[in-house]
Amino acid sequence: MTYDFAVIGAGMAEASLAAELAPHARVLLLEAEDAPGYHATGRSAAFWEECYGGPGVVPLTLASGPYLAEHGFLTTRGALYVGRAEDRGALDDFIATFAGTGVTIDRLGREALVRHVPQMREAWCDAIHEPACADIDVAGLHQHYLSAGRRGGVELACRARVSGLERVAGGWRIRTEGGTDYRAARIVNAAGAWADRIAALAGIAPLGIRPLRRTVVQLRVDPPAPADLPLVLDVNGGFYFKPDGGRLWLSPHDEIPDEPGDVAPEELDVAVAIDRFESAADWRIAAVERRWAGLRSFAPDRLPVYGPDPADAGFFWFAGQGGFGIQTAPAAARLGAQLALGLGPDAMTRAIDPAAYSPARFKARSTAHTA
Ligand SMILES: Cc1cc2nc3c(=O)[nH]c(=O)nc-3n(C[C@H](O)[C@H](O)[C@H](O)COP(=O)(O)OP(=O)(O)OC[C@H]3O[C@@H](n4cnc5c(N)ncnc54)[C@H](O)[C@@H]3O)c2cc1C
Repeated sequence: MTYDFAVIGAGMAEASLAAELAPHARVLLLEAEDAPGYHATGRSAAFWEECYGGPGVVPLTLASGPYLAEHGFLTTRGALYVGRAEDRGALDDFIATFAGTGVTIDRLGREALVRHVPQMREAWCDAIHEPACADIDVAGLHQHYLSAGRRGGVELACRARVSGLERVAGGWRIRTEGGTDYRAARIVNAAGAWADRIAALAGIAPLGIRPLRRTVVQLRVDPPAPADLPLVLDVNGGFYFKPDGGRLWLSPHDEIPDEPGDVAPEELDVAVAIDRFESAADWRIAAVERRWAGLRSFAPDRLPVYGPDPADAGFFWFAGQGGFGIQTAPAAARLGAQLALGLGPDAMTRAIDPAAYSPARFKARSTAHTA
């Protein structure tokens, strides 16, 4: 059988796009691991935060919010970007950067900050409040898309690492490590950290998508973290933390270049996280209960890449989801399917400019340089 689309991977990006393609096309999902969601998707910090990823990502996040809320995947938490006296300029810049983007943020002083987070140390006196920030039920959302795809006829093959992509009449021959071959008219490259490697297999020029490692630790703290604590982010990107079942999830906001693979946290990054946390908040750390790391993958301009490759329309990019691939999944998948199927925008995607995310933005530039 020849599929219309072979989507490589079965994380959040691939599952959501496959579900959106399913009513219109025969779709095959090919996942290297034993089960979907083992890599970035299964390791996220699970928040929907309007400003995360910068103003270029805001349209995707805002367009995804109503879908996530209507389907019950969001629990409002609120977020605070915090700073010290010397960070006043950074907080001012933050407000200016997001002015007119549609996000809801307002400035708070020390008094209001400690009402939200009594443990913030004295030096932290300035904050930006984002009331709409929410926790996302990541596993629920992933299952929602896998189930919708299954009902729509999507076929999922696990333990099917793609090892060869060859152009044949009418599309592609896809080889997998298990020895099974598949045929599809078009390839969707949604392989997260592996996206450039998949392009290389297909003889397509890579876009420079880089995997950057991010560490998270779960701390048992005294007193226990209250359930209504907001997500707290250092405005200078030194840390963030949020509560989970009385514990705290803490990240040093690290971005360490790494190779695609099953990454693990480094002791140094865990130590940095704890040091930064202790200098910001007055909690006693009783234990580091869990630690994990995952890869967030970025294109050179840190915006995602959705659309056909300019050199081969049969190769569709859906990559570079960075640190916002969960919170943007609904609108990204809807937009991706519309681009792949040649459909116009709908109510969810009308406010999104697809040109901002087109792979042509890189390829046009590299052609111009070499001309
Ligand atoms: C620590 C951390 C915290 C994060 N926090 C948040 C957050 O709070 N909110 C948010 O929105 N986002 C967050 N993110 C980002 C989010 O997790 C990612 O953007 C998202 O999961 C990307 O999904 P994906 O499907 O592109 O990648 P992945 O989930 O990595 O899926 C790619 C899949 O492709 C498969 N694959 C690779 N090569 C092949 C091959 N040759 N053949 C077959 N299959 C292959 C892999 O096995 C993998 O399953 C976080 C990420 C990390 C690491």
